[in-house]
Amino acid sequence: MNKDNLKALYRGSDINEVWQSYQNERVIEHPKLGLISPNEYRQSYHGKPCPFCGKKMVHGKANYSTKSRQEAISRGYQYKTQNGKNYINHAGRFPRLYFHPHYVTLDHKVNKARCPELLFEVSNLQIMCWKCNQNKSDNNNFEAEQDYNFVSDLAREALSKYKKL
Ligand SMILES: [Zn+2]
Repeated sequence: MNKDNLKALYRGSDINEVWQSYQNERVIEHPKLGLISPNEYRQSYHGKPCPFCGKKMVHGKANYSTKSRQEAISRGYQYKTQNGKNYINHAGRFPRLYFHPHYVTLDHKVNKARCPELLFEVSNLQIMCWKCNQNKSDNNNFEAEQDYNFVSDLAREALSKYKKL
């Protein structure tokens, strides 16, 4: 992975495509775990508490997702979002998969569309459960509340690159 190539990506869809296609490639240099893929990184948190809500996280599509909405509800996957709506984590369309509320996710502190060169940078990645990630996307102040200084520094740096656009 050449970081100069990442800087040339601007469209959110391009960046997402790169992120998706590298899920099983060893592109993250983790200080303790070594060179690992995004999927291996998530997997290493199976059974561990979410750093934000403290609930035990799970990983593994075979055991913690289902194609059936009814089955998802009967397994207790449905929860209420911060604005009180019933919600089930889901991904894909054909088929749509419904996931356990505390499924492990790998989140970018600085949005990947805003700062693509930090796509695989371990300091810009944080593990959290899907439910917390979902709540985060409802709340633009999440980063500020969690880790204000780190993110504001990165954000300032990222935004300064876009002044000329
Ligand atoms: Zn959580």
